[in-house]
Amino acid sequence: MAAPTSRPLPEESAGVQTSLPSSTAPRAQTTAPLRVGIAGAGLLGRLVAWALAQQGHQVSVFDPAPQALPAHDGHGAAGFTAAGMLSPLAELETAEPEVAHRGWQSIAHWRAIVAELGTRLTHPPHFAQGGSLMVAHGPDLGAARRVLQRLEQVDPAFACEHRPRALTAPGLRELEPDLHGSGGPLHAWWLPGEAHIDTVNTMQALQDDAEGVRWHWAQPVRDVAPGRLWLGTPAQAATQPLSFDLVCDLRGVGARPAVPVRGVRGEVVWLHAPGLKLQRPVRLLHPRHRVYIVPRPGERVLVGASELESEDRSPMSLRSAVELMAAAHSILPALAEARILKLDTNLRPALPDHRPQVHHEPGLLRINGLYRHGWLLAPALVDDALRQLGLGGLPRESTRPSATLAVSSAMPNSGSSSTLPLTTPLATPLSTPRPNPGITQAA
Ligand SMILES: Cc1cc2nc3c(=O)[nH]c(=O)nc-3n(C[C@H](O)[C@H](O)[C@H](O)COP(=O)(O)OP(=O)(O)OC[C@H]3O[C@@H](n4cnc5c(N)ncnc54)[C@H](O)[C@@H]3O)c2cc1C
Repeated sequence: MAAPTSRPLPEESAGVQTSLPSSTAPRAQTTAPLRVGIAGAGLLGRLVAWALAQQGHQVSVFDPAPQALPAHDGHGAAGFTAAGMLSPLAELETAEPEVAHRGWQSIAHWRAIVAELGTRLTHPPHFAQGGSLMVAHGPDLGAARRVLQRLEQVDPAFACEHRPRALTAPGLRELEPDLHGSGGPLHAWWLPGEAHIDTVNTMQALQDDAEGVRWHWAQPVRDVAPGRLWLGTPAQAATQPLSFDLVCDLRGVGARPAVPVRGVRGEVVWLHAPGLKLQRPVRLLHPRHRVYIVPRPGERVLVGASELESEDRSPMSLRSAVELMAAAHSILPALAEARILKLDTNLRPALPDHRPQVHHEPGLLRINGLYRHGWLLAPALVDDALRQLGLGGLPRESTRPSATLAVSSAMPNSGSSSTLPLTTPLATPLSTPRPNPGITQAA
């Protein structure tokens, strides 16, 4: 990467927190150490900071959040609020096939990242790849079939490689004994290869393991340019920029007006459900109420999520809470005695076309618009972007060929802006579990 001239960093003192030291040597560096300034300590910011710290670069991260841990008050990174479903198949209901392709790549990255975190941290985050389930109440079979048909239509490769397997009643009981409809048996499909990850602990672990990174809390970035970053809010008087070899704009919804991003409100419920045996994420296919339930360590489950065209960050509405919890209870009656731990709200960063955008030019990397797929897409996009900048990418568990972003000329500069779609063949999930007894092919 051609690096712009770098000026000395200002003295970094107040509000600076350096992550825990690690005894492991940094991953091989592909260039001389760069001075990198990252705007945003959300999902993308922590992933990029971690990757570049592993390669021995000098990384400073700036974020308006008062502290590293989430307050669950509607503000801060959406990455903390996310359910952490890694569902390339199920997301095809609303997303394009390219999201699924990137999703399979990301799952391979997450496996490797979590494994690597586990070599250094006492408590690595939870990641599981036992597939996921889609279920429907008896009368809703028609609506569920329409969803399954949509999955098949949008991705021709889907039918042969990733077909959901319809489960018999004993098959469902074997996989998830607690799942049954309040008004009768459930229709169920198993989606092999899908995964889920504990978002809060992963965000924290990426920070803890990012040796030498300087974290600047309560420090919003008002603007970025190649090699330069201005601190403060738009309302404050302009300050002198800080200079870096590479600046990364990873501010999510906070990247306006540089990026035409909007926030899409999402609400989730955290429950404590002692004794619940749920192992994998479950989605209820319902004509009106879409709900998913994701298991988390510590006998907790997360029920989500609303999707509202609003940038309202206020607490969850009664309507959303009632709908989410009633729908969840209708397929997991054992939740009746669960305790409500918290209700959380946040904004998904979405671009007008609902596709992620990756832009890079000498001295600047910008990624935004991860919308409802941030955990599903982030590692694949970050890996690709870092490699295109001539830096090392993220660890990954497979040697499958990586997809190439179709380059558009959306931005009038010497860099390249990339939006999905991709141009490569479908990648297959790693170590797809073998079908269980009681599974038949989806009708
Ligand atoms: C309810 C809900 C459920 C979700 N479930 C899933 C799921 O199951 N699977 C999945 O793949 N995705 C899910 N997502 C989507 C995912 O969380 C997002 O796509 C992802 O967090 C986007 O990552 P990001 O780094 O771009 O933004 P964020 O994670 O929001 O991080 C942006 C960061 O930038 C900071 N920032 C803002 N303004 C500034 C500024 N001026 N200067 C510096 N920093 C700034 C913010 O404080 C924040 O820390 C969900 C989202 C929500 C809300």
